[in-house]
Amino acid sequence: MNLPDALTPVADGLHLWAPQHTGTWGFANCLLITSGEQAALVDTPYDRPMTEALIAAARPVLPAGAAGVGAIVNTHVNGDHTFGNGLFPGAEIIATKASAEHLCREPSPQQMHFLTHGTPADQPLGWYAREHFGRYHYEDAETVPPTVTFSGRHDLRVGDIEVELIEVGPAHSAGDLIVHLPAQRVVCAGDVLFADDHPVHWDGPLARIAAACETILALDPETIVPGHGPVMSPQDVRDHITYLRRLEALVHARHAAGVPAGEAAADILDTGFYDHLGLRERIVILTAVEYRHLNGETDEPDLVALAAQAAGWAFGRREAAP
Ligand SMILES: [Zn+2]
Repeated sequence: MNLPDALTPVADGLHLWAPQHTGTWGFANCLLITSGEQAALVDTPYDRPMTEALIAAARPVLPAGAAGVGAIVNTHVNGDHTFGNGLFPGAEIIATKASAEHLCREPSPQQMHFLTHGTPADQPLGWYAREHFGRYHYEDAETVPPTVTFSGRHDLRVGDIEVELIEVGPAHSAGDLIVHLPAQRVVCAGDVLFADDHPVHWDGPLARIAAACETILALDPETIVPGHGPVMSPQDVRDHITYLRRLEALVHARHAAGVPAGEAAADILDTGFYDHLGLRERIVILTAVEYRHLNGETDEPDLVALAAQAAGWAFGRREAAP
């Protein structure tokens, strides 16, 4: 696995571990905040080898005398942002109360290991899981829940750096937060934003993702760190809001016409909607989630079942490909 062996400077006291593999799942950005003898980390990688690579890359940047990373902020509780939490013993782990309350719906490392090893490889979900998640080492990962939770807004200081945590969920997940660094004019968006790939959102609806993007723009940042992919400009975020609104219109029109969700997604994909972006099958998940809202369904979304629908579409295309 080709992982960065150095952090990229983003602004004074901010360094990004950016494993920029687009077109697949699981490579999340992690932002290290350092000032004086203190350090905090926004999100942790998906498995132990990746987290160890991040720790090695961070070593030259960590202040002399720093005891290590004192605080972890989890933008949300998907495993690709949290499974590395356990490698920072003694750090407080901060997330929203809604994230902590919905942790139970997240596939555990053991379930991810089963999905990538125990399912039939010639069936859509087993094939897709191996294709996109088979590279990760879930067998020695663990779920380490937050130790500090909040609702609405939570401020912390890392040395001299002011850090504002702002709850914007439910959007991508039940309890998303964004990290605002006002002096540096940087926002860490978590999975409210994806760059270069189609996004995936488990909670939605799309209007709430767009609203979270508007919240980010209202903070007037210069640099926006998405959950996955290269850093973004405010114009990139505005363009993404256009993407969300266009998709919303396409999905709502099909729902109003009585088209079933799966057919609606396949139809939208057939129109070539933003087909220069990777992971087109995520449109299947976005459409299914939007339909849940339009149908007034309020039970917990089943993440694996949603992923299985996307896998079905991708598997069908794989067979159709020359
Ligand atoms: Zn993610």
